[in-house]
Amino acid sequence: MNKQTEEALKIVKETLALEDKYGHALNVLNYDMETICPEKGMEAQGEIISFLGNEAFKLRKDDKFIEAAEVLYANKDELDALDKVLADQLHRAYLQDKNITPEKQLEYSRIFNKAFVDWSAARKEGKFELFADSLAAVDKAGKEMIALREKTAEEENYSVYDMMLNDYERGMTTKELDETFNRCKEVLVPLLEKIKASNKKIRRDFLSIEVTDEQQKQMADYLLSVMKFDTTRGAYTTSEHPFTSGLAKDDIRLTTHYYPDQFISSMYSIIHEGGHALFEQLQPAEDFDHYINGFKTLGMHESVSRFYENRIGRSKAFVHLIYPKVCEIFPQVMKGVTEEELYYALNIVEPSLIRTEADEFTYTLHIIIRYEIEKEIVSGKLDTKDVGARWKEKYKEYLGIEPSTDREGVLQDVHWTSGFGYFPTYAIGNMYNSMYIKAMEKEFDIEAAVAAGDFDKINGWMKEHVFAKANRLAPAEWIKDITGRDFTPEDFLTYITEKFSKIYEL
Ligand SMILES: [Zn+2]
Repeated sequence: MNKQTEEALKIVKETLALEDKYGHALNVLNYDMETICPEKGMEAQGEIISFLGNEAFKLRKDDKFIEAAEVLYANKDELDALDKVLADQLHRAYLQDKNITPEKQLEYSRIFNKAFVDWSAARKEGKFELFADSLAAVDKAGKEMIALREKTAEEENYSVYDMMLNDYERGMTTKELDETFNRCKEVLVPLLEKIKASNKKIRRDFLSIEVTDEQQKQMADYLLSVMKFDTTRGAYTTSEHPFTSGLAKDDIRLTTHYYPDQFISSMYSIIHEGGHALFEQLQPAEDFDHYINGFKTLGMHESVSRFYENRIGRSKAFVHLIYPKVCEIFPQVMKGVTEEELYYALNIVEPSLIRTEADEFTYTLHIIIRYEIEKEIVSGKLDTKDVGARWKEKYKEYLGIEPSTDREGVLQDVHWTSGFGYFPTYAIGNMYNSMYIKAMEKEFDIEAAVAAGDFDKINGWMKEHVFAKANRLAPAEWIKDITGRDFTPEDFLTYITEKFSKIYEL
């Protein structure tokens, strides 16, 4: 390595080490804000968060850092493999931001903040029209930010919406998603009709029997121990919306929620977030030393959380494994409920209005609706004033139901207050995991491992094949590296068709 590269590497790593310290503190504060920070403590804590966030932001804006990062990129052939990954990513971030002045940055963050405030007010009142203008402003700002951007070679032919998608799932294009989602609709929409027409009766009377927080906590402890979540390097508590946050290499936090009359909800949010947490706990330690541990994409992350939640958690084998403990912890609920009845209840398909409460089958349709609408907004085909009406139309068309208020319709998600392109990552996660499960199946009997509670085997395979290169490869290369195949929704569609045809006796 020549002297200049060596010096540049030193500057970059010193800066990123400092950024990591701010990041760690910010993660702790944010976790606290979402969990136990009292109402009156929020404001002062919010100020500390802005202050530290701004200090961290300035580090990357420093000319010496930018210059050093560009030297690394220019001389990347001299770097080791992981530093090369870092150099590529710093270069992409540099191109993304180089033409956005601090004034512009401030202008955009004001637009997004206002959008959030308007969205909250609109949601409270249940009136989409209070948010429509802000949504138009978010669209305009997003397009302007992309117009200011210097494209990388691979982005050369990307449309504006492709660029937005790319920010969340690198390399994913509108063309590929159109094909994927059209194919999903072709299979899922008619199959849903058949499910709705099925005579299969699934028992659900026990699902709303009241349980205590203590019982739910006992269950959460049990599930995390089954999954082999390392409690010496992680912890959990409750929050309104469950989430996972990697505070530091050896401190991975997650949350769940306890609803007294929905014991299933907390169980499956713990398994879902536990999946995210395992991904963080089991990633290669050296990725931290090279500051690339945050490079995995949202689609990759959702593939893992949904692998544990749905593919493992809602399988017959898993229900067999946990059934005795569920009976022991929730005796008032499980009295007279068989293992089979519990399995069916966990897999009820029912069109509903709220995405976050959707079942495994209909979830993808909720995402497709959002994808199609945001694509229409960005292309200019759909005026933001008409988004609420379009929403209702699509729910009627794909799910056969229609929200009576905007609150349980177009205003339910916060995502559009800061831009577009995020939603598809939720659905492609299922397609990634369906692909890698096929590779896993070739090596061992997954069902037998789950039924025996052998999570060392499952997690070990995930660590070696799925987690090991997630920070290092773009999604398309990553899935090919694991499975030897290009991205496809077919494995997911085959799985979902087989599973639910059997359950609903179609
Ligand atoms: Zn998730």
